Order: sequence, then C-alpha cells, then structure tokens
Amino acid sequence: MAPTTERRRPAVVIIGAGFGGLAVATELVRAGFHDFTILERAGEIGGVWRENTYPGAGCDIPSPLYSFSHRPNPDWPMRFSLQADIKTYLEEVAREYGLTGRIRFGTGVASADFDESSCRWRVRTEAGEVIEADVLVPAVGQLSRPALPDIPGRESFRGPAFHSASWDHDVELAGKRVAVIGTGASAIQFVPELQRVAKHVTVFQRSAPWIVPKNDVAYRPWHRRLFRWLPVTQKIERFRIWLVCEFLSLGLVDLPIVRAYLGRLGRRHLERQVPDRELRAKLTPGYAPGCKRALFSNEYYPALTRPNVTLETEKIVEILPEGVRTADGVVHEADVLVYGTGFQASDFLVPMTVRGRDGTGLAETWRDGAWAYLGITVPRFPNLFLVYGPNTNLGGNSIVHMLESQARYIVGAVRTLAGRPGVALDVKPEVAARFDTVLQRRLGRSVWTRCSSWYRNEAGRIVNNWPGTVTQYRLRTRALELGDYRAIAGEDGA
Ligand code: NAP
Repeated sequence: MAPTTERRRPAVVIIGAGFGGLAVATELVRAGFHDFTILERAGEIGGVWRENTYPGAGCDIPSPLYSFSHRPNPDWPMRFSLQADIKTYLEEVAREYGLTGRIRFGTGVASADFDESSCRWRVRTEAGEVIEADVLVPAVGQLSRPALPDIPGRESFRGPAFHSASWDHDVELAGKRVAVIGTGASAIQFVPELQRVAKHVTVFQRSAPWIVPKNDVAYRPWHRRLFRWLPVTQKIERFRIWLVCEFLSLGLVDLPIVRAYLGRLGRRHLERQVPDRELRAKLTPGYAPGCKRALFSNEYYPALTRPNVTLETEKIVEILPEGVRTADGVVHEADVLVYGTGFQASDFLVPMTVRGRDGTGLAETWRDGAWAYLGITVPRFPNLFLVYGPNTNLGGNSIVHMLESQARYIVGAVRTLAGRPGVALDVKPEVAARFDTVLQRRLGRSVWTRCSSWYRNEAGRIVNNWPGTVTQYRLRTRALELGDYRAIAGEDGA
C-alpha cells in the first residue's frame, strides 16, 4: 500500500465514511492524491455497518469477497461476518491508510452548488459552513434512510417501537411480546435472535421471501494462519465465492436455469426445515426466485416453527396502542414493535440539495427516477462523481467489488484533472442517454420486473440495480474515456 509521491490538486470532498467513501479515499491514497476531506454526519465511520446493530446483523456475502481487494483480511472469524467484525475491519482500513485525520465527523451536508466561474463545488454543511472542492464525491449509500410503513395509527402504539436500522438496545426484550413487521434481509437475521429471548414473537409477513441455505463456516486458527502465511489461499477462497456470485448474477438477467435452480434450492430448504404443511404454505414465495433479494439463512425457518412464534399473513390494517390489528379483525397484542420494513432506496442523495450548471437541480433531473452514466456521472453536474449511485446495486454479488470499480474510475478522473486546474468534466448528454437506454432495455429482461421491490421506484422503473456481472461493470469502468465528456473551464481554467 506504499503511496506514490504526493500530488495536491484537485481538491476532493467525499461525503460519507462508509464502505463507498473509504473505497474512494483508499484508492486516492494508493494513487498518491492526498488533498481530500471526508465529511461524515455521524460520529464514527462505517455507514450501514455502523447503523445496523440489530441482534444477528451480518453480511450475507462472504467476507473474503466483501472486503477490499487491496486489503484482504486473514482474520475474518466467519465466512459470513457479523456487523461488529465488518465495522472493525473498516476502522482498521481507515487507520492503516491514514484516513482518520481526514474525516470531519458530525458534518452533515445540506447542499452542494456548482460555481461555473471557478468550476468548483461549494458544499454547504448543515451548520452553514461552506467548503470548496474541485471534485465532489457523494458516497451516501442507497440504504441509509429507514422506511417506516404508512399504516394508520402508527404513532399511537404505547410501547417502544423502532426500526431495525435504529435498534433501541435499551429496550428489554426478555419476556416481552414482540411484533415484527417485515420479512426481508434484516428481519430474517433478527427474528431468530428475538425468538430466543422474547415471550412471544408475531411476525407480520406481506410476501414470503425466497430463502436458501447459508453455507457458513467458522474460520479456525489454522485457516487464519494459512490465509496470513500463504495469501494465495484466501485469494482462492475469494475467487471461488466470486465465481458463484457471478453465476447467480447472470441468472437474474440472462440465465433462467440459474433461477430455476435457486427456486429448487429454496423449496427443498423450506421442506427440510418446516415440517408443518400449513406453515410451509404460508412461507412459500408467490413470485419468481431472485425478483426480490434471495436470502441466506439456516435459522429463520426453524425459529418460525417454535411455539413462541406466530407467522401472521393477514394484512395489517391498523396499529393500536395495544398492538396490531389485521384485516380479519384480530388484535395482536404486543409490548414492543419492530419495523424490519427496509429503506427509502430510490431517493438518491436525499435530503441534500444538489445544483449543477445553470442551477439545474439534481432532484428535478431525476424526477422520473434516478439515472447516471455508469451510475457515476450526470450531465450538467460537472466533476460530480457518485459512489453506489443509480443502477449499481446487485442482486447477488459483493457491492464492495462495484465500489472499487467506481473508486478506480473516479481516481482516473482525478488524475485527468490533476494537471488542469479550473477545468471540469461534464458527461455528454447523448452518451449518458444512450447508456441509460441500453441499460433499461437489459433490465427489462431481468427477473426484477416480475414483482415490486425496493429495486424499483413508484413508476416501476428499476433505479437501483445493475443488470450484469461485476466483471462487466469493471470492464465498462476500467478507464475514463475522455470522449464521453466535455471539458469545461472556469474563468481561470487551463
Ligand atoms: P427489505 O428487504 O426492503 O424488506 C422490507 C420488508 O418489510 C419486506 O418484507 C416488506 O414486504 C415489508 N414491508 C414493507 N412495508 C410494509 C408494510 N407497509 N406492511 C407490511 N410489510 C411491509 O428491507 P431489509 O430487510 O431491511 O433489507 C433491505 C436491504 O438491505 C436488503 O435487500 C439488502 O440489500 C440489505 N441488507 C443486506 C444484508 C446483508 O446481509 N448483506 C442484511 C440486511 C439488509 P414486501 O416484501 O411485501 O414488500
């Protein structure tokens, strides 16, 4: 990781110190660029791995792949790591790359305006301070704003109520009746933990998820020694996982046979783990495998078979002070209410106000759904480079691989701009439009069109997902093609 000789300009401001922001910062350091600042609203790094501390929180992508390629971690305790280990990993990375001193904690960004005369971004913090940057890199994630359901009476519940991403650890759950709304990736991780302590858990399911076995292993001391002494062994583990994930990604768009296999795996898992026919029927998904994120768990189904758990599939009509009322008129009494209801994923960069050339608003540009060239740049927003932007989420592979592709691309832009102060790169509208048309056509063939999920906005447009493999994305982003951009100059531009 030895950095090359220090280069000063351009000045880069990164918003967010999660996996995405750190991906860009480490890549800048590796390339010898040190004039950057990371603005972070919270008091610690980690993004979703700081926020999501619910019991059982972990990653369903194996850690050897869910980590930076330039910073493998021989010390992962498990193949599928838990939240605390991932956060520790990010803290170690930040320390090793000397990032900690470059992060301004407690600094939320309210707005960013492109100033045409200087060709610079003026970033206004929530405290009113203005910070200037040549290059602006929002890395605020897609899953940072919890979504609470619009259920009548939500505010009336008299007990503690919280979202999975802001778990209230002060609430004692032992011996309590807990109602859980939602059965997505988060809920299937915390429901088994709740089952162990709560008096009763009622899980409200709107759609049954596809769940397949989780092929987890605890890495033993000899694994860790091997990974450390013979790093190629961990690379082989990473490669093997990558191959399986790439295969799965192909299945979500191009290879129905993979989806059929996923479906068979899910049905067999359900049959093996849930002997009760009636419960099995309730847990049988009613949509194509892979349409919503396929989930990995060996513990969720068994938890639902325990006597202190009820799976409720009646529609919720109201939340009352004493519990949840369903369409059949039954009131399910509860002491604690937990929302595992996901995130506002299609509203990118909200609540920041971003204005580009001629005061063009990003929110207006994205009125019908967010889009960006390679998920990174938007016409009329020069030198604005998004991380984990529109159409860069994955249905079956490690997002860290995508973040690294974006970080490399952005550092390529920084390198291009380094010798040309006062110049900014504005992606050509026709290039961005052509990219989006091809992308949406490909997405039209994907399984994600077959159900509603957080991958689609209200109009049905798929705004979150990339319709391919991470290798295809890596190849598309391997170099910044200058022909895709118009170079614009400020008053003192070169
Ligand atoms: P989610 O997958 O969006 O699941 C939300 C759940 O809440 C769904 O079951 C949904 O039902 C239900 N729901 C939403 N509104 C409802 C309402 N009004 N009434 C009843 N049910 C309602 O959210 P999540 O579980 O937090 O996961 C979000 C994403 O975070 C995942 O897809 C994944 O990308 C990421 N994540 C990853 C990991 C990991 O291991 N890497 C772990 C946790 C989360 P419907 O399905 O019917 O909409």
